[in-house]
Amino acid sequence: MATAIITGSARGIGAAIALRLAKDGFDIALNDISEAMFENNDIVEQIKAEGVMCEYFIADVSNYADCERFVKEVKAKFGTIDVLVNNAGITRDGLLARMSEENFDTVIAVNQKSVFNMTKHAGSVMMKQKSGRIVNLSSVAGLHGNPGQFNYSASKAAIIGMTKTVAKELGSRGITCNAVAPGFIKTPMTDKLTDAQKEKILQVIAMRRYGTVEEIAGVVSFLASKDASYVTGQVIEISGGLSM
Ligand code: NAP
Repeated sequence: MATAIITGSARGIGAAIALRLAKDGFDIALNDISEAMFENNDIVEQIKAEGVMCEYFIADVSNYADCERFVKEVKAKFGTIDVLVNNAGITRDGLLARMSEENFDTVIAVNQKSVFNMTKHAGSVMMKQKSGRIVNLSSVAGLHGNPGQFNYSASKAAIIGMTKTVAKELGSRGITCNAVAPGFIKTPMTDKLTDAQKEKILQVIAMRRYGTVEEIAGVVSFLASKDASYVTGQVIEISGGLSM
């Protein structure tokens, strides 16, 4: 049985990706920063109901040593690591002029350094296996920039550079690395926007609606599937036609 790690997967897009990959037949290693996130929901039970193995691992993905331990634990428990989805991400929005150094550093650590931490350790397992799929969560903010998200846009743009570099470095070992760049998806992250902000956003989306977490999970499922075996170093925007 193949195994998928999805970081930041107690809720939101990560939980939807985990459930979809379980439906695709992967054993699932869930992750989040706090135990409480798993105590308050039934994601583990939902995944097990698909007939696959599922366990959650508490680790702060911005912490190098935590990621090393987390990957070792997954390898010991499941035997292989076939898919890594670098999903964990946070926002600390504010205009550049008012952005604190702490809010810059925290977002870069959680969104960007985490991709280094996890890809380094899980990638090493995949290199020995000579196979693997890595999917990174970027954002339209990383492709096009977004006022009020200097830190977030920087981290999500960096993910694109890391995705292409990993694709080039690990391609000869049978490992693909791609990114998805969601637009506005209905999750706790976008629920924080004001009604006025939400209305303004809808006007620039060709499909005039927010995306769903399942619509992101479907594309990640494709990138992790045999059908995407010759797709690497790509960024797929999933935004309902936000930017054309
Ligand atoms: P979300 O609902 O906030 O879920 C993110 C999860 O990551 C949370 O459970 C969070 O736990 C966890 N997390 C945060 N910091 C972590 C850390 N240091 N280590 C481990 N886990 C951590 O976010 P989402 O909307 O599903 O977004 C998922 C990904 O998609 C993110 O990378 C985001 O940037 C990207 N994305 C989202 C949208 C959108 O519209 N929602 C658009 C474009 C891109 P806590 O709650 O305990 O912090």
